[in-house]
Amino acid sequence: MITVHDIYEKMLARQGIQRWWPADSVFEMMLGAILVQNTNWRNVEQALANLATFIEPEKIRDMPLEELGQRIRPSGFYNQKALKIKAFVAWFGRYHFDVAEVKKQPFDVLRAELIGIKGIGPETADCMLAYAFDKPVVVVDAYTRRIFERVGYEVPKKYDDFRQMLERGLPNELAVVQTFHGLVLNHCKEHCLKKPICEGCPLESDCLKIGIA
Ligand code: SF4
Repeated sequence: MITVHDIYEKMLARQGIQRWWPADSVFEMMLGAILVQNTNWRNVEQALANLATFIEPEKIRDMPLEELGQRIRPSGFYNQKALKIKAFVAWFGRYHFDVAEVKKQPFDVLRAELIGIKGIGPETADCMLAYAFDKPVVVVDAYTRRIFERVGYEVPKKYDDFRQMLERGLPNELAVVQTFHGLVLNHCKEHCLKKPICEGCPLESDCLKIGIA
């Protein structure tokens, strides 16, 4: 079976270093991590464009909930997401909206705090940890699961079990885990789509193609 590290290396050889996550500021990155729940990035971009000059924690804190919901409407589930963003901003306010202050927290403490915010699950928390707070955690999503299942892994059902499995196979370095998530997303856009395009896939020689008709 191909190792986690070899999957990483093969995708890296094909795609090069991925400067993921796409955002102009750390706060925008964190908003994006919430907005992308259950939708695609195009819709997130529209929602962020509607927020435009309001992408600052104080402005989002002070924006009426209903207005926030309307502005992020393109991302879907906008009423729920507006509540999540408000809850997240209230938490961030405890750190005076200072990313450097948040970063001082140990990984376990910070992760538990993020997951404790209503509407922030492990995947959203890990995106923030890896891309906003410089903690080397592997982000697991449906695309990661898809690749590893198809290649032939028995993928643990529980999010954290799968994350830890991947972390055991990769160097514990921020640049690696950040790039890994970007590689996975691109790979699933270019080759491992729902209906995969296996021809030319950098993993094809090692892939068992489990579940593909
Ligand atoms: S060979 Fe096909 S199924 Fe396997 S990883 Fe590549 S695109 Fe996905």
